[in-house]
Amino acid sequence: MGFRPFIYRLAAKHSLSGYVQNRSDGVVVEVEGPEVSIASFMSGVQGELPPLAEVSQISCAEVEIKEDTGFRIIESESGGLGKVYITPDIATCSQCFAELFDPEDRRFRYPFINCTNCGPRLTIIKDIPYDRINTSMSCFPLCPLCRGEYDNPADRRFHAEPNACPACGPALSLLDEAGKLLPDKDPLRKVVTLLLKGYVVAMKGLGGFHLAVDAANDEALKRLRSRKFREEKPLAIMVKDISAAARIAQLGKEEEALLLSPQRPIVLVRRRETDAISPAVAPGVSDLGIMLPYTPLHHMLLENHFQALVMTSANQVDEPICMRNREAIQRLRGIADYFLVHNRDILVRCDDSIVTVSSGKKRMLRRSRGFAPKPVTLKKWYPEILALGPQMKTTLCILKGTLAFVSPHIGDMETPEARDFHQESLTLMQKIAECKPDIIACDLHPSYYTTKLAEELPASRIIKVQHHHAHIVSAMAEHGIEGEVIGVAMDGTGYGLDGTVWGGEFLVAEEAAFTRIGHIMNYLLPGGEKAIREPWRIAVSLLREAYGNNWQEAAEELQIVPEKSYYETMNRIMVQKFNSPLTSSLGRLFDGVAALLGVRKMVTFEGQAAMELEAMAKGKTDVLLPVDIRETGNVLCLDFSPMIRNIVDEIRKGRNKTEIACAFHVTLPVVFRDMAEAIRRRTGIDRVVLSGGCFQNRILTEGTISELEKAGFVVYFHHLLPTNDGCISLGQAVCAGAQVMRGI
Ligand SMILES: [Zn+2]
Ligand SMILES: [Zn+2]
Ligand SMILES: [Zn+2]
Repeated sequence: MGFRPFIYRLAAKHSLSGYVQNRSDGVVVEVEGPEVSIASFMSGVQGELPPLAEVSQISCAEVEIKEDTGFRIIESESGGLGKVYITPDIATCSQCFAELFDPEDRRFRYPFINCTNCGPRLTIIKDIPYDRINTSMSCFPLCPLCRGEYDNPADRRFHAEPNACPACGPALSLLDEAGKLLPDKDPLRKVVTLLLKGYVVAMKGLGGFHLAVDAANDEALKRLRSRKFREEKPLAIMVKDISAAARIAQLGKEEEALLLSPQRPIVLVRRRETDAISPAVAPGVSDLGIMLPYTPLHHMLLENHFQALVMTSANQVDEPICMRNREAIQRLRGIADYFLVHNRDILVRCDDSIVTVSSGKKRMLRRSRGFAPKPVTLKKWYPEILALGPQMKTTLCILKGTLAFVSPHIGDMETPEARDFHQESLTLMQKIAECKPDIIACDLHPSYYTTKLAEELPASRIIKVQHHHAHIVSAMAEHGIEGEVIGVAMDGTGYGLDGTVWGGEFLVAEEAAFTRIGHIMNYLLPGGEKAIREPWRIAVSLLREAYGNNWQEAAEELQIVPEKSYYETMNRIMVQKFNSPLTSSLGRLFDGVAALLGVRKMVTFEGQAAMELEAMAKGKTDVLLPVDIRETGNVLCLDFSPMIRNIVDEIRKGRNKTEIACAFHVTLPVVFRDMAEAIRRRTGIDRVVLSGGCFQNRILTEGTISELEKAGFVVYFHHLLPTNDGCISLGQAVCAGAQVMRGI
């Protein structure tokens, strides 16, 4: 990206002659000049790279002197500009930032300033190749000054497709709640006033609309939450710069680097006690999602007035982020008081990415803006495969040769809007990967939308991949490892081979196949889906596993059941196994333990109870809770009943619940290690791959990695894709690809 102009400028700086050219096998540069200049040029190639450029390998050779004069950018071998994959959107670079606030610059306070090193990419494309004509900038003819920059190889804006200025480019406008244009010379200044007054403003960003409110204003937050029906889910905030972030949260080095990175994701960090933001931003959890400004508009908004702005994806619950002006006005009716829009269309929806740091490394929680659609490079060659993903937190993936093109985050396939978005993403990824694979991979679950879609699309073959196998294979693919591994998939729910709900799995797995060698004990999910929203039901089920028919006594003592009349119903549905599937899910076990400890009986979003249990587990403990490993047939089973009985006893004794939450978090890594050791004794395998939604819990992940490494295992964990279901499409694709290659 912007690589050839970079080389051009570098050569000019050192007065070298020669050329640069894109070829199918890479970029070729020929330079001629004094040896010292060539040496400084070489160190510049490595040391002064543009922000997002990556050089995988440099090789040098001497050639005959041609007595060239001047330095040229030669057209690519293929004609046009050569093969350039679509790159992600990039935050405003430091040079554009300086120009933005320079009163002498012709783009002073122009909210669409950008250059080759920054600005929109993926979100403005309608087709490939990536040329202005194929973007939403095509309706803005360049003025002579911008044209001059665009055509000049020595300029920072040489071939910057979204190049624009106040004379020729897009502009802001402010609309009222009904979408009527409000004549205002300075819409941005007006928006600042509105936000200060506590209004909810929908703002068009890079990959979609945000809903913004002043993060210090309790009333504004209350309004936003009640209008968006998102009463408890944590909201992301944007702050002016890194020192503002450091006042609100405790930042490690990695977290600082991530906040400042050109991808500018939301970074989950530990919050500080501060009154700069209202407690209503993220109630009940210890982490806060923070990001820094990534568009010129953001920089101008946060310039003077706010300690922090809540910037949450503008959508109704479970629906994809709004992208078009008219769509936003329609879908955000009753939520936003005003709309700050512009006339540069967003053509590809792209949510903010979310990352966190655990065991000293970056971990993705949602991979989208700034990261997608950069392909994952695989160690091996695979045939073309389309993988449609799971039901929740879906992405899709196209496998082609050694590249895996994973789509930006799509979300939960529960609404028609989300399904349309899945379709949009499919068309987009087919364009980006330049292929339409007819081998389709999907989940085993018969009623997932994506499974049904696989059956509707034209396909030469459909390959169904078990959910937790896909989890493990995706992490293997990220690390380029092959052969058998011990896969530890700790998850919410996934359809198992035996039709039960899996989610606490120990697999001996390789790319194409697996055996389930162990799992968490099966317990009932009384009420099925309902149990996900009502964790007290899971607590009841765990008590029944632990005490048999005497479960009611403990349940009464701990006040688990919300109403007396429920005892009878619960007993009946569990005895008859009515609408109560068996599960081995660790995610649900977390919910159940949270309910036992009185964290909460009901949740308003999946994982809420587990997140609060993690927040509760502050401090250190050496106390381990008792868990048995039993062998049934050839399968190892983790029996948590002794732990449940122990927790009940401790609560009876009046032990501090924080300590119990802590002990629970310390115990799990130890029992995972014990299981892995038992499996190693049987199989001799000493590589462990971790995946699944539960490893979003930092205490659990760091503990598990550390226990396993101490026991001599080599541990692999996601670093490119999320450990949640955002990674499933990659795992499906690689598993299917491996099956095809092996003729399975
Ligand atoms: Zn720039
Ligand atoms: Zn212009
Ligand atoms: Zn999963």
